[in-house]
Amino acid sequence: MGTDVLVIGGGNAALCAALMAAEAGASVTLLEAAPREWRGGNSGHTRNLRCMHDAPQDVLVEAYPEEEFWQDLLKVTGGITNEKLARLTIRASSTCRDWMRQHGVHFQPPLSGALHVARTNAFFMGGGKALVNAYYRSAEKLGVQIRYNAPVERLEIENGRFVAAWVGNERLTAKTCVLAAGGFESNREWLREAWGQNERGEWPADNFLIRGTRYNQGVLLKHMLAQGADPIGDATQAHMVAIDARAPLYDGGICTRIDCVSLGVVVNTEAQRFYDEGEDFWPKRYAIWGRLVAQQPGQTAYSIIDSKAIGRFMPPVFDGVKADTLPELAQKIGLDVDTFMQTLNSYNAACRMGTFDHTTLDDCHTEGVTPAKTHWARTIDTGPFYAYAVRPGVTFTYLGLETDDTAAVRFGGVPSDNLFVAGEMMAGNVLGKGYTAGVGMSIGTAFGRIAGTQAAQAALRQGAQA
Ligand SMILES: Cc1cc2nc3c(=O)[nH]c(=O)nc-3n(C[C@H](O)[C@H](O)[C@H](O)COP(=O)(O)OP(=O)(O)OC[C@H]3O[C@@H](n4cnc5c(N)ncnc54)[C@H](O)[C@@H]3O)c2cc1C
Repeated sequence: MGTDVLVIGGGNAALCAALMAAEAGASVTLLEAAPREWRGGNSGHTRNLRCMHDAPQDVLVEAYPEEEFWQDLLKVTGGITNEKLARLTIRASSTCRDWMRQHGVHFQPPLSGALHVARTNAFFMGGGKALVNAYYRSAEKLGVQIRYNAPVERLEIENGRFVAAWVGNERLTAKTCVLAAGGFESNREWLREAWGQNERGEWPADNFLIRGTRYNQGVLLKHMLAQGADPIGDATQAHMVAIDARAPLYDGGICTRIDCVSLGVVVNTEAQRFYDEGEDFWPKRYAIWGRLVAQQPGQTAYSIIDSKAIGRFMPPVFDGVKADTLPELAQKIGLDVDTFMQTLNSYNAACRMGTFDHTTLDDCHTEGVTPAKTHWARTIDTGPFYAYAVRPGVTFTYLGLETDDTAAVRFGGVPSDNLFVAGEMMAGNVLGKGYTAGVGMSIGTAFGRIAGTQAAQAALRQGAQA
């Protein structure tokens, strides 16, 4: 028999599982599909995790009680969530940081652009890359065998029990196994199939960009579903952000976000507005704009601002298209100038400007234009003007494996006694749709730790029986 616990994946969920299993006394092997320099999956791109706390705690100010966290989740998911697993995640988020520190993760207060989440989210010093590196260092110290360039293609499963994993022609056995190999967001064929063809004959997913790793191809997810593991979630549900259309296909990360939507208007390639840009604070709305843009022709839109907006948002890495007049701007981005001017003129005429305040849901709104802009509606009239082309950026998909509070993979409602799942591969149990910033890492940390503990216990039990 090989190792006690085999962990498949190399991001936060896998590392949390490997560390817990090793701490519990099991021998652990971790298989990461990526080469060492690309290890860590999407977790390497993260900045923070959402934490419940009843009073100020080191970097977290005020309080963020369980009930408020739960209500936030309930709202964003529209109720498509498992309350038991959601509350388990929430409670675990209040106690995990000491353990994270023991494994070398440091926290820091948010920087000025992210002060709005100072109460709810704990930021990693050095970001997700530093977190992942710290966990790898700690795992090595604890004797975890780490193998890079080790993409698992399939598993041998007998009667709902894990038997072996295959990497190329190599068969790896273990007493128990944790699946933490991410969603299928990097698999463009699968995204294409899930999103299908629209009424314009387009395949929307062909224009999606992937914000994170190229290695989350969903190979094991597909394999497990084919093996009869119980599924959770819908293949088109994902965290999707509108990002700079010039971003690379993979791994653009957080710096490709375009954060000026609520300060201006957004038009599609037909120069029409299509959604209320001022519906709510940007941190609560940024994750819906990927889907909104995905529904537009060519899956492309343009965020338009004037110079009054400059300095009020985190500037993107690359400059926008700049012009002294609005018709010139339309021409430069290739939109029909007359239609663009009609859209902008109607919007400007509809603005009822009260007291502009980007830190509150202010009273600047439109009247008599569809769609309305309900807050921060100011005329776009002060040159120079700027346009940023945006496209949908997929963060991670929600289709996954159904689980319970033991993180067991289930077959026909029966939990496996030696196969466990964590992270994006099961996030859909908590996130049926929508998102609230930082909860991806809360889910991965909570379930990674549970899966590691359970896998170690099951392996050590087997060892004792043998
Ligand atoms: C740009 C960006 C920013 C984000 N910011 C935040 C944030 O600030 N806070 C937050 O909570 N969430 C954030 N997220 C979401 C967060 O990254 C995920 O929720 C979380 O990292 C998921 O962890 P995971 O371990 O399940 O997946 P990953 O970290 O993606 O790890 C999956 C691992 O599995 C490996 N793998 C895949 N297939 C195989 C295979 N067949 N065999 C072996 N290994 C395989 C991959 O190489 C990878 O190492 C962000 C995501 C992105 C893309």
